[in-house]
Amino acid sequence: MNYKEIKPKLKKAYPVVYDKNRILVGGFGKNIEYADPTGSVYFVFKLLTGKYTIKQITRKTINQYSQYTEKDVFDLINDLNSERIIEDANISGTNVLSKYELERYHRNINFFSSFIDLKKNKYRIQRKISDTTVGIIGLGGLGSHIVYDLAALGIGHIKAIEFDKLDLTNLNRQILYNYEDVGKSKGHLAKKRIHDFNPKVKFDLFEKKVTSAKDITDCFNDVDFIILVADRPKYYMAHWANESAVTLNVPMFVAGLEAQRAMYYTIIPHKTGCVECWRQSVRENDHISDEVLQEKERMNLLGDNTAIVPLVSAVTGLIMSEILRYISGIGSLQAAGNLIAIDFLTMNTKIIETWKRNPNCAVCGGH
Ligand SMILES: [Zn+2]
Repeated sequence: MNYKEIKPKLKKAYPVVYDKNRILVGGFGKNIEYADPTGSVYFVFKLLTGKYTIKQITRKTINQYSQYTEKDVFDLINDLNSERIIEDANISGTNVLSKYELERYHRNINFFSSFIDLKKNKYRIQRKISDTTVGIIGLGGLGSHIVYDLAALGIGHIKAIEFDKLDLTNLNRQILYNYEDVGKSKGHLAKKRIHDFNPKVKFDLFEKKVTSAKDITDCFNDVDFIILVADRPKYYMAHWANESAVTLNVPMFVAGLEAQRAMYYTIIPHKTGCVECWRQSVRENDHISDEVLQEKERMNLLGDNTAIVPLVSAVTGLIMSEILRYISGIGSLQAAGNLIAIDFLTMNTKIIETWKRNPNCAVCGGH
């Protein structure tokens, strides 16, 4: 579109305060200030309603303030655009999303609006979410929260692997299930719950026990990425899912609990190191950690038995934010090639391990 035909409109998320000789726009954590000794900036702001084109705004302003040039108006509008304060009112969602989607995901769309400039279409971000197919392994504590979040965001298609039955001890954190469901198949319960919550989400269940990378690859042949939140069999599952993500060439987002901490990381095949690259780097550079890991593998094949819901909520919120950054292209991935941990006592998050691609990796090398 011709730049002059854009109809700039102040975004709703930003409060604007008109003060003497200046205008303040409330950003997120900062105020943007425009000096306005003549009232011309105020005049322009009042025209940012989405009703007028940049051409019309420029003409009106120059007519009113003879000392103002076309370039002055353009500079102001460009600055407002670079601060992400305005959007183009010409962009409508009706040819991108259905009426139902526009209403159901209205708050998502407003959120995306706060990040976009005049050229981007906030509705297309929601469309992208609706067109996404996710493969998730595990519908336990983390999986419960994540599939709910995926359905709330409006992910179009969820493919889930889960073989387990609901146990009473699961109910301190597995919020997808009810007390009366103890003993029933988690996968079927999850499918029903997600359908009730968001009937437009397609939910495919694979009720099977994973015993190899191929098991995962067979279920997830058309997914856009994999979420791994199953930890049994411990240590093997991450390797199988990793191999599968590399084979399918799709990202993998992983989260889990470890006693007083929760952790997450992201693998982008052939860009970041994979799980095997990471394991190799520990083997070569950190003998103590390697021995600790081997001892854990010997002692604790069935996994930990500590799990507390605040840490589950916290880490699933973090990994869902990472996933949304990935799908939307807003911001950059924080956990790619980084293991990030949240500590229960302080709720501080920090990168506790970083690894790189190993070109000779047995799983992802040679590409
Ligand atoms: Zn690798």
